[in-house]
Amino acid sequence: MKQGNIGVTSENIFPVIKKFLYSDHEIFLREIVSNAVDATQKLKTLASVGEFKGEIGEAVVRVKLDKEAKTLTISDRGIGMTAEEIDKYINQIAFSGAEEFLDKYKDDANAIIGHFGLGFYSSFMVSKKVEIISKSYKEGSKAVKWSCEGNPDYTMEEVEKADRGTDIVLYIDEENENFLEEGKINELLNKYCKFLAIPIAFGKKKEWKDGKNVETDEDNIVNNTEPAWVKKPADLKDEDYSKFYRELYPFGEDPLFHIHLNVDYPFNLTGILYFPKVKNNIELQRNKIQLYCNQVFVTDSVEGIVPDFLTLLHGVIDSPDIPLNVSRSYLQSDGNVKKISGHITKKVADRLQEIFKSERTEFENKWDSLKIFINYGMLTDEKFYERAVKFNLFKNTDGKYFTAEEYKALTEPNQTDKDGNLIYLYTNDTEQQYSYIEAAKAKGYDVLVFDGQFDVHMASMLEQKNEKTRYVRVDSDVIDRIIVKEDASKVELTADQMNALSKVFTAETPEMKDTNFMVTFESLGADAMPMMVTQQEFMRRMKEMAALQGGMMSFYGQMPDSYNLVVNTDHELIKSLMNKVNDGTDSLVAPLNSEISSLQETVNKINEMNKNKKDEEISEADKEIIKENNDKISGLNSKKDEIYKEFAQKEDMVRQIIDLALLANNMLKGEALSKFVKRSTSFIK
Ligand code: ADP
Repeated sequence: MKQGNIGVTSENIFPVIKKFLYSDHEIFLREIVSNAVDATQKLKTLASVGEFKGEIGEAVVRVKLDKEAKTLTISDRGIGMTAEEIDKYINQIAFSGAEEFLDKYKDDANAIIGHFGLGFYSSFMVSKKVEIISKSYKEGSKAVKWSCEGNPDYTMEEVEKADRGTDIVLYIDEENENFLEEGKINELLNKYCKFLAIPIAFGKKKEWKDGKNVETDEDNIVNNTEPAWVKKPADLKDEDYSKFYRELYPFGEDPLFHIHLNVDYPFNLTGILYFPKVKNNIELQRNKIQLYCNQVFVTDSVEGIVPDFLTLLHGVIDSPDIPLNVSRSYLQSDGNVKKISGHITKKVADRLQEIFKSERTEFENKWDSLKIFINYGMLTDEKFYERAVKFNLFKNTDGKYFTAEEYKALTEPNQTDKDGNLIYLYTNDTEQQYSYIEAAKAKGYDVLVFDGQFDVHMASMLEQKNEKTRYVRVDSDVIDRIIVKEDASKVELTADQMNALSKVFTAETPEMKDTNFMVTFESLGADAMPMMVTQQEFMRRMKEMAALQGGMMSFYGQMPDSYNLVVNTDHELIKSLMNKVNDGTDSLVAPLNSEISSLQETVNKINEMNKNKKDEEISEADKEIIKENNDKISGLNSKKDEIYKEFAQKEDMVRQIIDLALLANNMLKGEALSKFVKRSTSFIK
């Protein structure tokens, strides 16, 4: 028997393995099983070039649990190792400069294992003792047993072993006894080894017999050695892609499209990406793209390797060229990885373009689900934007789809305003904004449906990219003020009349939390509503973006909502209300008005006299008179407001008009709604 000291240059690695790799220690199984797979594949390669002439026999890697002995054994019939090879590959490990490296990457087991070639040693994360029993394929080889108890000392001795190949026996330590559970091992094999290229057997297949689950003689193979992505696209049908999708995500809904990636220059990459059927909630995304390295599962966090917006896709990417065994930050600065990311973006865009061209109806049918990916991509990736403008679709309220170019052609003749701006109208709620949509359609305008998560952001971006284009929500103003043409009709009220009506309506406008109302006047035609509620596009959009983004934008989020109460001066009701205001308030207001004008006249005269004087040259007496008069004027104005207020309170019609407008905008709630219903009932006689 040989005894020795593991050739660690400067440190004892075992505490390091236990301490630093703790968070991720389940990957030990992946490391040991993939070594076994490698050894088996190497033997096959040697056989194919004629260097190994014996029988390969069954090339299966076996994982065995022995609960009593508390061991987990991974056996292969691969090339095996001679004593010299164990010495070379296992006993000598370079481990200098470890402290520094570990400090930097202590949370990243993949990086540590990759850096030090510690795959095999990761078994000590869960074992108090590990044995290697191996017999090389080379003729005349003796079997050896290497044994180590988690310290730098090992023993090595000759043993009897019938078969070629290697058994790795892990004596699982107390803290890690969960790895002696069948369920746990099954879970890990399913996670890391599902698509390894050599069959992995874990126990025997079970069968229901006489109400019991009994073992059969058949090996329980846990992996699919030929997953769809390693096959040629030409050999696969649509249903093969769907089947593979379900292999990856057993509970996933059928995806919309797939993209088969197959690159061998300037880097090696294969994979299949799927566009899943998701609607709105990105957060709820649980299935992720899985990253493999030669069919060994590495991770499902692909940030940095695929562009951000494509992390929403599903599927697999397999590349031996992605330096997986390095830290994330390093990965993102790697030139190769950047190329891969760019390539995937291009592939995805090409495929979408192709589907759009050849199967437009199909593409349109799936658009509502596709949209979120495409919009997200256009917003975050300039290159993708340039490709996607050709197939990014707009849907209108009739359910028709248009590309940007088509839609421009459709709307330009009619929806260009007097200043040459092309105005795109949109709604985010066809039910709630029904009357506004109708008003727009009555003018021959088209209205888009923008009800997606990124639509407001898209609108802002498209405005920046396309000069003289604006997106305006259909309820943000009365239609003639959204698209202003030369021949807009004018309001026929005097300033005094507008002032009076404004006071009357303001007096009856309900108080709402974080909400402001302003009364404005428009000539909207006799058939339009007497009053409309509109919300200014800019402020509303800023608030919406703030809600999604926070940060810098949150300033807008705290602003109150500002609405306009637009009075339609053409409507019969408004005209008759105007008359009532005149009749009901003139006799009271007229004397106040004449008093105000005479006070104002005095003020004006004094101001005129002092026109060219500096403030200190104006006499105190003059200043006194101006101040007194102004105070009186504002007192009289308050009296006028009181008169209008009293009038408004007595005149049910005022509140009724406001309430109808609020109701049409779904803003009449609670007590106000209940009062409205009662008042309306009293009108029915
Ligand atoms: P890596 O696999 O990254 O080279 P490991 O520590 O996992 O590092 O393994 C070191 C070496 O030990 C391997 O490169 C291989 O030569 C040898 N080895 C490990 N496991 C086996 C096995 N089951 N059969 C044959 N050789 C093995």
